[in-house]
Amino acid sequence: MAGSGKFFVGGNWKCNGTKDSISKLVSDLNNAKLEADVDVVVAPPFVYIDQVKNSLTDRIEISAQNSWVGKGGAFTGEISVEQLNDIGCKWVILGHSERRHIIGEDDQFIGKKAAYALSQNLKVIACIGEKLEEREAGKTFDVCFQQMKAFAEHVPGWDDVVIAYEPVWAIGTGKVATPQQAQEVHVAVRDWLKKNVSEEVASKTRIIYGGSVNGSNCAELAKQEDIDGFLVGGASLKGPEFATIVNSVT
Ligand code: PGA
Repeated sequence: MAGSGKFFVGGNWKCNGTKDSISKLVSDLNNAKLEADVDVVVAPPFVYIDQVKNSLTDRIEISAQNSWVGKGGAFTGEISVEQLNDIGCKWVILGHSERRHIIGEDDQFIGKKAAYALSQNLKVIACIGEKLEEREAGKTFDVCFQQMKAFAEHVPGWDDVVIAYEPVWAIGTGKVATPQQAQEVHVAVRDWLKKNVSEEVASKTRIIYGGSVNGSNCAELAKQEDIDGFLVGGASLKGPEFATIVNSVT
């Protein structure tokens, strides 16, 4: 743990679940023993947020998986930050690689979304990460720094931001980054913050890792000095396994 604050574990449920499966997952989470000293957040699909909010223990906060870039209005299919605040969401995931690379959101758009969410007191899980070909071309740091720059250009401050380093080649592939690979990028991102934002922000901001984290590999990753938590996809759909990841805090 290098950033200040608590270890942070987020569960990104993505576009998964039904009323029934989510009710089972919520009940498993309600019954799980979670380390007190960890911030725990889950991000259900929009349509189930209300169900989760009404049944999940207050111990776990709720995140959205996306939000609109400005005030709501005539934007078919979008969900506004104001609406997320209205239903009790505390967080939003922005810049996830699936939104960058499948939906086509670019750095600037994502930076503006982060700025708008923060201006309305919605906290942000800001995702960055390189594709396999970028890593193989030795461009990992360049890509991550470029994505960081776009966030830094827009956000009014970093108090309510958690950075999630999620190498695209590790997401949903079962190919987790080694603890050393993750630690190396986390250190580089922290150093980037020091040089480009401030020493204070660099030392305070939590940098979490995402990409095929599961109940078996979380303990080794959590031991790394600069890994301040996890953003978990697939394994967050299983309550007991997610609890193991939450409890991997060292
Ligand atoms: P994964 O997804 O854990 O299924 O690899 C992580 C994420 O996309 O946040």
